[in-house]
Amino acid sequence: MPIEEHKALIQRFVAGFNQGDLSIIDETISRAFFNYRPAPGEETAPDVLNQLAGDLVAAFPDMKIAVDDFNDRGETLSFALTLSGTQKNELWGSPGSGKHATWTSTVTSRIRNGNFAFCWEDLPLPDVMATLRSIDMVPPPEDMDKPTKYPVSIPEFLLKLIFTGQVADLSCGHLDLIKVTEPTTDVCNDCLAAGDIWPALRMCLICGYVGCCDTSKNKHMKQHYEETGHPVFRSIRLQESWVWCYEDDVFLSGKILEQYK
Ligand SMILES: [Zn+2]
Ligand SMILES: [Zn+2]
Ligand SMILES: [Zn+2]
Repeated sequence: MPIEEHKALIQRFVAGFNQGDLSIIDETISRAFFNYRPAPGEETAPDVLNQLAGDLVAAFPDMKIAVDDFNDRGETLSFALTLSGTQKNELWGSPGSGKHATWTSTVTSRIRNGNFAFCWEDLPLPDVMATLRSIDMVPPPEDMDKPTKYPVSIPEFLLKLIFTGQVADLSCGHLDLIKVTEPTTDVCNDCLAAGDIWPALRMCLICGYVGCCDTSKNKHMKQHYEETGHPVFRSIRLQESWVWCYEDDVFLSGKILEQYK
């Protein structure tokens, strides 16, 4: 597809979204992800985007998209995508803050079957944190090692996007090491022993060790991985069971744990 048509397709998506017409997602976004084609019955890219857009628009009724800085790269087209709006209503467990949030990032798009597929090029974690912080979804830097104010539950596909830059499923070669899926404690004993607190907990799926997350002061789960080489853990926060592998840097849905119970 010529670059001007590719650009026009993206602008059509933006215009439709800004007019509140979410059916523009099914019309302009390809079923396949940027680098992954879902099998029949699996979630498609429009499925994921409809879920994300629905959640965002419900929380930010005035949300608008802007695109800028188009850059022709031959097979792909990159551009700056900005989302902005006022958080009037609840978002993933965090009540309406009344605050304005703006989020800009670079996106790459390619054409698949006449529609476009996109991925975030690089999602710097500090930027993600700053945006979530601006609407009170994550605590200020000085309180990062304290539990969050609200029981926020960010959808798995979004965590996957934040951690890996894409929503496609990547593979982990360590799943056959999984021996334990349910935690037997809900504290970080190493932090308790040191008199510290933690924002969130992880459990090693190989030996069952429970330790604090990578944003905590002590990073006990990471320390456990460095000491034992056990790479796969799950989140054991309320309503969260997603899995992460330190070796492969992959994020997996907690649903995969069903088969190891
Ligand atoms: Zn792995
Ligand atoms: Zn700890
Ligand atoms: Zn372990």
